[in-house]
Amino acid sequence: MERIEKLKILKPVNMLQNVITSRYWSPRIRGGIPYFHRAYDFAPQGRHILHKQDVVASVLSRVLKIDYEPNGFGVYTKHQAIDFPDLIFYNAHLEEDSVCVKAGDVVDAKQIVAKMGHTGNSRSRWIGGDPTHLHQEFRWMVDRGNYVKLDAALYYQDFNWLGAFRV
Ligand SMILES: [Zn+2]
Repeated sequence: MERIEKLKILKPVNMLQNVITSRYWSPRIRGGIPYFHRAYDFAPQGRHILHKQDVVASVLSRVLKIDYEPNGFGVYTKHQAIDFPDLIFYNAHLEEDSVCVKAGDVVDAKQIVAKMGHTGNSRSRWIGGDPTHLHQEFRWMVDRGNYVKLDAALYYQDFNWLGAFRV
């Protein structure tokens, strides 16, 4: 098994057409309860909102599950990294019927798995805004189903705190 320090995560979307709209530890309120967003959100910008955005696998991984959570992730893919089996990640709010892999498949980093959508509890931070975005969440499985959510900024390639990403 590789060491987690060596983990490199690819951008899950084309960063010429998308930007990060919410980061790890962004404060949120839902139903009057404050909480932190412990994931990264990506959404298309400018004229690119007109195009359905491809979502690619961030690392070589096995697709564990494709499912639908109407009040949560919506349509999502759940992956287990091949070289880091304790690492699980989710791509959420995918477009309905857009998932082009199946449970059990091993997908390469950069392989297209679905299209970005707005299923589940996907919503815009702006009233009337387009709710389409990708929510990508990484979990480090500790044991017996316990996990910690990782800040992927530690692992995303070409991350920088000002511009979020170089392209
Ligand atoms: Zn999110």
